[in-house]
Amino acid sequence: MNIVVCVKQTPDTAATVTVENGKVSWGDAPLVINPWDEFAVEQALRTKEAHGGKVIALSVGPEAAREALKHALAMGCDEAILVSDPGLLTVDSLVISKALAAAIDKIGGIDLAFFGRQAVDSDTGVTPAQVARRLGWPALTLVAALSAVDPAGKTISVDRAFDEGRQQVKSPLPALISVTKEICEPRYPSFMGIRKASKATIPVWSAADIGLGAIPAPALSWTEVFAPPKIETKVEMITGDSAEAMAAKLAARLLEEKVL
Ligand SMILES: Cc1cc2nc3c(=O)[nH]c(=O)nc-3n(C[C@H](O)[C@H](O)[C@H](O)COP(=O)(O)OP(=O)(O)OC[C@H]3O[C@@H](n4cnc5c(N)ncnc54)[C@H](O)[C@@H]3O)c2cc1C
Repeated sequence: MNIVVCVKQTPDTAATVTVENGKVSWGDAPLVINPWDEFAVEQALRTKEAHGGKVIALSVGPEAAREALKHALAMGCDEAILVSDPGLLTVDSLVISKALAAAIDKIGGIDLAFFGRQAVDSDTGVTPAQVARRLGWPALTLVAALSAVDPAGKTISVDRAFDEGRQQVKSPLPALISVTKEICEPRYPSFMGIRKASKATIPVWSAADIGLGAIPAPALSWTEVFAPPKIETKVEMITGDSAEAMAAKLAARLLEEKVL
């Protein structure tokens, strides 16, 4: 199985997000691999471990995105490729998906492409479906389990997760999969993996290298970004001599405030 896993570099989720003068800032929060993408990397590695082949981590982003790729290498990916081009730094997902699809096409011979369900900074969740559409591959989104993989027969069966339950889907390969957190528990990078990743050579492909030609302008624009208004809250402690007395007081207050 030749597998690609797409990883994005994002700010740490513990970062405090602020909006100043219409610009979003994560302060000096460290940049990390998008947390959802760790699940995609783990599942890509497990699929390779079960069926052979190799896993290539792929990212579109600035030079700093190397760190996300190094994390994927440290977890066990065999290779990593960074697509980086000044023209790709301020584009929307229509353009990012074009770059990812072109890079997957250039790598060639891929059976499965794994994605996280969404990126924690832009949160659109549309990139996997857009890449699948561009490649002409089936998109298996919100996948919570791989139930059967048949590399010889070139098919895959997965469970898709919904609020109400699960849906089993069978698809021909090559296919694209976006994963949810239920799929697996990501491994920690090993010491040996971190050493290997620190020495790895990560090729950088420009837009021209992947045959993108003129980079289209983003179709979307961010007209305004603002922080949601702060909600004023107050805390009232319910006291009393017994649990019954406190419960009665609490029920009376809830009725008074029309909560019940
Ligand atoms: C006008 C405009 C300007 C923008 N400018 C910037 C900017 O300057 N800097 C910036 O960081 N973003 C910018 N963005 C956001 C950028 O377009 C999105 O980050 C990108 O389209 C991916 O969408 P998403 O982050 O919502 O990913 P989602 O669709 O939520 O991600 C789903 C999955 O797709 C994969 N994926 C997503 N992005 C990548 C990637 N780059 N490489 C590899 N895999 C990926 C991951 O597996 C991820 O889990 C801009 C958007 C617009 C509309």
